[in-house]
Amino acid sequence: MRPAQATIDLSALLHNYRLAKTLSRGGALAVVKADAYGHGAVRCARALAAEADGFAVACIEEALELRQAGIQLPILLLEGVFHPDELALCVEQDFWLVVHAWWQLELLEQAALSRPLNCWLKLDSGMHRVGFFPHEYAAAWQRLRACANVADIVMMTHLARADEPERVSTLEQLRQFDSATKGLEGLRSLSNSAATLDWPEMASDWTRPGIMLYGSNPLAASHELGRHLQPVMTLESRVIAVRELPAGEAVGYGARFVTPGPARIGVVAMGYADGYPRHAMDGTPVLVDGQPAALAGRVSMDMLTVDLTRLPQAGVGSKVELWGRHLPVEQVARHADTIAYTLLTGVRRVAWHYHG
Ligand SMILES: *Cc1c(COP(=O)(O)O)cnc(C)c1O
Repeated sequence: MRPAQATIDLSALLHNYRLAKTLSRGGALAVVKADAYGHGAVRCARALAAEADGFAVACIEEALELRQAGIQLPILLLEGVFHPDELALCVEQDFWLVVHAWWQLELLEQAALSRPLNCWLKLDSGMHRVGFFPHEYAAAWQRLRACANVADIVMMTHLARADEPERVSTLEQLRQFDSATKGLEGLRSLSNSAATLDWPEMASDWTRPGIMLYGSNPLAASHELGRHLQPVMTLESRVIAVRELPAGEAVGYGARFVTPGPARIGVVAMGYADGYPRHAMDGTPVLVDGQPAALAGRVSMDMLTVDLTRLPQAGVGSKVELWGRHLPVEQVARHADTIAYTLLTGVRRVAWHYHG
């Protein structure tokens, strides 16, 4: 069996959820969209079900997968519905839905539902992706409030730059939210992971932590709270071949890495078809038998190469951690000019193991 594997530590997931919950003034909806950021939505939701206040997913397909697996907690559809047929299913399955545009509001007004739905009315407070503009928000809220198909309304917005040291634009989004929702009755929801960790003053009735649940810190590595997170996914494989090469030899596609002196190159059963980023640079950290080593040469589909020159004891069969328990995925992301989110959601083909 090919040794490439992803191990999911469900007790770390629970630990991270508890941290998010502690930092939330009210409830915390565990965001498990995109198959729980690549960790397996059903397994993760089951692991959290005893303690979570509810879940958030992108769409009804993801929500149905959780219900069919026996998850009975509230589930919020972060993009709401895409088609009128979904509304009856939302009633039947007791889903909550985001309403982010007039056309979605009109679908609700035109539907004949057996029971009213809980809606999360989204404000575009500055990110300019989805949501009602501040000047139309109160009108949208009034129309939703008047709609017989609507039960509770939660007021929500999403932050574009809460993970950055720059604070001015997040403060401006907060100001827009406060002013647009002023005088409107109902619960409020602002914080993603970055805001949950770094903007305690923003804690509202509902937080929506995502990436932090999986143990990845969206903030600078030095952030105190971020250091309490525990990585959930560990991506591992093994060395399957070793090359002893003289100086000046090129390794891999495109001859990107050239040995600066006599070198030992280890070949690892892990490639971009497993989700390891092809754009990882030479020098990207890996751990070989727990020792720091570095990527050397372009990542190929099924294999990658690492420099073992300074690890003479490493050889065929050595264990390689690509990211996880001992190597933060953010570090790898930085070396591949991407973010932890894309790496975690991109893992495939490997063997999956769950524990905890
Ligand atoms: C994905 C998402 C979140 C979670 O964001 P993280 O940065 O992963 O914590 C929260 N709210 C909304 C609306 C989202 O789409």
